[in-house]
Amino acid sequence: MLKISGLHAGVDSRQILRGIDLEVRSGEIHAVMGPNGSGKSTLAHVLMGRPGYEVTSGSVTLDGVELLGLEPFARARAGLFLTFQYPIEVPGVPLASALTESLVAAGRITEAEAGALGARLSEEAAELGISPEILARPMNVDLSGGEAKRNETLQLAILRPRIAILDELDSGLDVDALGQVARRIERATREGDPPLGVIAITHYRRLLAELPAQRVHVLSEGRIVASGGPELAEELERTGYAAYREDAAAPGEAGLGDAGLGELGLGETFPGGL
Ligand code: ADP
Ligand code: MG
Repeated sequence: MLKISGLHAGVDSRQILRGIDLEVRSGEIHAVMGPNGSGKSTLAHVLMGRPGYEVTSGSVTLDGVELLGLEPFARARAGLFLTFQYPIEVPGVPLASALTESLVAAGRITEAEAGALGARLSEEAAELGISPEILARPMNVDLSGGEAKRNETLQLAILRPRIAILDELDSGLDVDALGQVARRIERATREGDPPLGVIAITHYRRLLAELPAQRVHVLSEGRIVASGGPELAEELERTGYAAYREDAAAPGEAGLGDAGLGELGLGETFPGGL
């Protein structure tokens, strides 16, 4: 289980995450939605340990092991994985080599076994609609947005993390590609020992059609202000985030108070966060 408790973090002196609590167990899919700039990518980066973000308080444990303070590679080795909103280009390093070296470095395969990885890579690539020549090309260099996102999913399929954070994996994907990556990840949440747990950051319910989230959370101004079942994603698609913005329920205003959200049927709300 990934357990995030009271996570506060920011950049320089600016606070972006203002108290995040979230628990994700193996096999569970949680969606995190929220307006632009609400801190979704920051949450993903802080969980993975990207330099430049300062955690001011809180804790993040994976199966009881504290991750905060560990280098990103150590978090990856512990089983945490992030698909980037904007995958980075790595000139000179083919994806196949990067994956092989990752598995060897983590002690998951020996150098001698590395040769046998090719067949699995090809099989996974075919399932994800990735052409074989892309595996030999420098990682993400000159790839279309969709190709890079398929590559991210291929890495997930090969590395088999325990918990994956998907930062807008669906952006830049056409409908066919979206179905392929979502179905592959959904399969990982059922197979494997333990099966994959997922935090899917997304703006669109169509990802959740193939990657069905049991829980949907709304992030606004650095806090989770509402959590609910799949119906919450449907509500958001209809109503947008207006009800969740900080200025939406100013005290004393005839507008959406705590009760108002309840009346809209927007799942459980956390009045303190509004
Ligand atoms: P989201 O992914 O929800 O759209 P982000 O987490 O990317 O939002 O950003 C949240 C806020 O934090 C934004 O106002 C953004 O400008 C700011 N922010 C994020 N990362 C940095 C950074 N490295 N330096 C300065 N500001 C940042
Ligand atoms: Mg983002």
